[in-house]
Amino acid sequence: MNISTRLSDLLSQVKETTEYFLGYPVAKDFDYSELMPFLQYPMNNLGDPFVKSTYKVDSRQMEREVVHFFADLFRANPENVWGYVTNGGSEGNLYGLYVARELYPNAMVYFSESTHYSIQKNVTLLNMEYVIIRSQENGEIDYSDLKEAIRYNRHRPVVVVANVGTTMTEAKDNIGFVKQMMGDMAIEKHYIHADAALAGGFAPFVNPRPSFDFEDGCDSISVSGHKFIGSPMPSGVVVVKKDNRDRVAKKIAYIGSSDATITGSRNGHSPLFLWYAIKKLGVEGFAKRTAHSLQMAAYTEQKLKEVGVKAWRNPNAITVIFPSPSEEVCGKWQLATEKGMSHIICMPNVSMSQIDAFVEDVIHSNK
Ligand SMILES: *Cc1c(COP(=O)(O)O)cnc(C)c1O
Repeated sequence: MNISTRLSDLLSQVKETTEYFLGYPVAKDFDYSELMPFLQYPMNNLGDPFVKSTYKVDSRQMEREVVHFFADLFRANPENVWGYVTNGGSEGNLYGLYVARELYPNAMVYFSESTHYSIQKNVTLLNMEYVIIRSQENGEIDYSDLKEAIRYNRHRPVVVVANVGTTMTEAKDNIGFVKQMMGDMAIEKHYIHADAALAGGFAPFVNPRPSFDFEDGCDSISVSGHKFIGSPMPSGVVVVKKDNRDRVAKKIAYIGSSDATITGSRNGHSPLFLWYAIKKLGVEGFAKRTAHSLQMAAYTEQKLKEVGVKAWRNPNAITVIFPSPSEEVCGKWQLATEKGMSHIICMPNVSMSQIDAFVEDVIHSNK
């Protein structure tokens, strides 16, 4: 087969598999065609986005705007913001934990059993000790178990990774509670990282607003760019407190910038894509997407219940959980399955007709 046949085959495959896509939190309703000319250039945001580099084929200016946009949504102190566009939520989690470890090398890390697999990998990479905390039925961390574990290790600094939307049930750990707990237990050396990979894109627009951001007590937040916003390549944003990151940065002469990020070369296109999405959507656009997703989630839950499927969701979640349907249905709609349960994530592109088609498939496979 020649190159163009291989390409057109792959293109049809990608088109088709994108069509039936309900099980993963990836928005696909984007149009970045205006940015295509940039793909002709070797854009690279090498080093620190807030420090000039001698490598100038970049989108640092846009990257800084993206960081500030999210820092504002997450109610960070504008005087004390630093961050960058990552390759995804996992890298942002690694970065948050890295900053935490540099601050408190002797810390114990706590996170719930419902936490994303990137956290366990990241604490292993960083050689940090950790304790896994029980989850409640809905996937939220068990606060009394957390308190007990912290008390048991109370001579050590505390790092908590809070889930702002767990992968399976989109449960949100309450960062206000956790912060309060630190105060009650008089634990001065503590650090709270928020893993908001999916929900960071809409939590600021949900009413009541979940307790998850800088004002609520977190020290860093990681969010994915390809999830709620949507982008052709994986991306993410990590926001940390500037005074904390200043302790980890090192100035490197070769790039004329500081080496404050996990990787050296960094994608110069993804900040541009995120910037474009933010500019096109505006804050109102995010609010609209949120409202649509919430409506679709309510619709999905109700439709499934109507046909006898025991569906449920956490308050104001866009993820609907239910006992896994047949393998055929799971395969067709690309549903993730864990412990006999599956979920549909009502991303902004999910439509009523898609849900109706899915429910039809469920009915037929049950016959
Ligand atoms: C998706 C997800 C991640 C990982 O994000 P990537 O962008 O895929 O690296 C981390 N945590 C949670 C809760 C997620 O849902």
